Amino acid sequence: MGRISRIATATSPVRGRLAPSPSGDLHLGHARSFLLAWWQARSQGGEIILRMEDLDADRCVEGAEQSVLEDLHWLGIDWDGEIVRQSDRLQLYEDALTKLWSDGHLYPCTCTRKELAEAASAPHPTETPQGPGGAEPGLYPGTCRGRFDSREAAMEATGRGAAWRMKIPPGECSFRDGIWGDYVEDVSATVGDFPVTTKDGRAAYQLAVVVDDADQGVDHVLRGDDLLSSTARQIHLQRALGLPSPAWYHVPLVIDGTGQRLAKRHDSLSLRRLREGGWKASEVLSWVASSVGLDGVSRATASDWLEDFRLESLPQGAVIGPVS
Ligand code: GLU
Ligand code: ZN
Repeated sequence: MGRISRIATATSPVRGRLAPSPSGDLHLGHARSFLLAWWQARSQGGEIILRMEDLDADRCVEGAEQSVLEDLHWLGIDWDGEIVRQSDRLQLYEDALTKLWSDGHLYPCTCTRKELAEAASAPHPTETPQGPGGAEPGLYPGTCRGRFDSREAAMEATGRGAAWRMKIPPGECSFRDGIWGDYVEDVSATVGDFPVTTKDGRAAYQLAVVVDDADQGVDHVLRGDDLLSSTARQIHLQRALGLPSPAWYHVPLVIDGTGQRLAKRHDSLSLRRLREGGWKASEVLSWVASSVGLDGVSRATASDWLEDFRLESLPQGAVIGPVS
């Protein structure tokens, strides 16, 4: 697939990724996930790529990419190869959609947001906060399955846009997570047939991330555990596209003193603000290191921790930030 697939043939024990969305300043939670992904790859002599997940134009913020790069440099996190931007890779997602459609995995859905909200039979029992795909949807009852012969026909019949949805047969999807252990989800019972594009046909997060991870040869995915609930959907897509699944590691989120997940509104904990307020990168590094059971002794750079880093010592529970 595409020009970047050459990289996938490189032999490396671990090929991880940093996949920020340029949607605002990074905060301590991001610093922690990115450092852990970097330590995981580099401590094993592996590679790590940087991919800007800039597909959702509504969430992208002018200047955010530059600010992400500054933060990564400040922390001493580097990456292999060129920065890849999802907005440059639309053809790859189109190719994947064509394959999914011709193999019978997709159907067009013209349901409105309001109809979907009404149809959702019960709120999805989600234990994890929302990921980049937005709030966890309720269970989609399959309203549009078998209703239209093509996306064009769907749009013509309803005068609306149409999203592609992925057909999910009943059945458990099980996978092993390096932090959570064995995890089982029957996607047909949790979210049902899920959208892989927006209503104007553009690739949605679930599809893009699967296509990109495979195309970029990523075999280790370490990310926040808000995405644990997306993983089974991504495995369905990987199987339908004939792509391998990476090893999964969903790391606990960083929360504030009241138990809330750190989010963009925690402006005071953005790396930029901390830096402006006199924090040194080594202090952030020490905090992250101590949160994964490494001693609190200050070391100057991210690579100074590589020798001692052990992912096995990562605690499962949420981690409280050092300041709030
Ligand atoms: N870009 C996503 C985010 O900012 C991460 C996607 C992923 O790691 O799979 O939350
Ligand atoms: Zn529908």
